[in-house]
Amino acid sequence: MPLDTIDTTLESVHALTPNVKQFLIRAEGHLFDFVPGQHVSVEFEDADGNARYRPYSPVSQPGTDTLSLAIKRYPEGACSTWMHDRTVGDSIPVTPPSGNLQLEDPDRDAVFVATGTGLTPLFAMATQHLHVGEGRTTLLFGERTQESVMYRETLDLLSASHEAFSVEYVLSGEDWHGRTGYVQDHLSAVIDDTSTPHFYVCGVPDMVVETKARLSDLEVPAGHVFTEGWEEGAVAE
Ligand SMILES: Cc1cc2nc3c(=O)[nH]c(=O)nc-3n(C[C@H](O)[C@H](O)[C@H](O)COP(=O)(O)OP(=O)(O)OC[C@H]3O[C@@H](n4cnc5c(N)ncnc54)[C@H](O)[C@@H]3O)c2cc1C
Repeated sequence: MPLDTIDTTLESVHALTPNVKQFLIRAEGHLFDFVPGQHVSVEFEDADGNARYRPYSPVSQPGTDTLSLAIKRYPEGACSTWMHDRTVGDSIPVTPPSGNLQLEDPDRDAVFVATGTGLTPLFAMATQHLHVGEGRTTLLFGERTQESVMYRETLDLLSASHEAFSVEYVLSGEDWHGRTGYVQDHLSAVIDDTSTPHFYVCGVPDMVVETKARLSDLEVPAGHVFTEGWEEGAVAE
């Protein structure tokens, strides 16, 4: 059954990595009021003309008529290929924002652990944390290769501009001067004190499960860990 949607127009498209594009969509006269970490669902038509939906988490902050979505293209993916085929001026209907992932305590140190496009809600939350919170903002971001790290320029700029913000990249598919392997193997190396921060974890389900287990081993209270897993149906690359 079709859901209620907001009409938006695609204003710009920008390649972030070989597989991920950023889409700026604007709803003239509408104010997107949401909590960073929430998502909208993009409505698209399947081959039979039926309305279908996929969730995407804005990387932008609320309070304007524009959303910024970062969407990875899966070769056979229904919605992601549809989105990557859109051009400026096209209509992109989206549902109103919803979802439970959000910053629990802006004034507490926060560690954001993301892989791939799991960065999107955490990017919005980390930006909010940096601007409204009192605590330190730490981001641990896992990807396969340097060229697949999205928003690296922005994250490095935030880190260079704010003493309270730090970012660590972990690459699983390439040797480089930085950290290698999986994000969950680097938790204790990047965090001085695991007893106080809140941990927000988003990415492929295996990473989310293993990160929770590692945090438990490090005696992080379960109530300090907030997670979202996705790409459940995605094929391994
Ligand atoms: C809360 C939430 C927020 C999200 N936010 C984002 C975001 O900000 N950015 C983002 O990029 N993604 C995000 N996602 C993931 C997104 O919703 C979609 O799951 C993703 O874009 C894939 O959708 P699709 O329609 O392109 O692929 P689908 O058609 O659903 O296919 C998914 C994968 O399965 C493979 N596949 C399809 N059919 C088959 C088959 N018959 N056999 C084997 N494999 C098959 C496809 O190749 C593809 O790799 C989010 C998910 C959630 C739950």
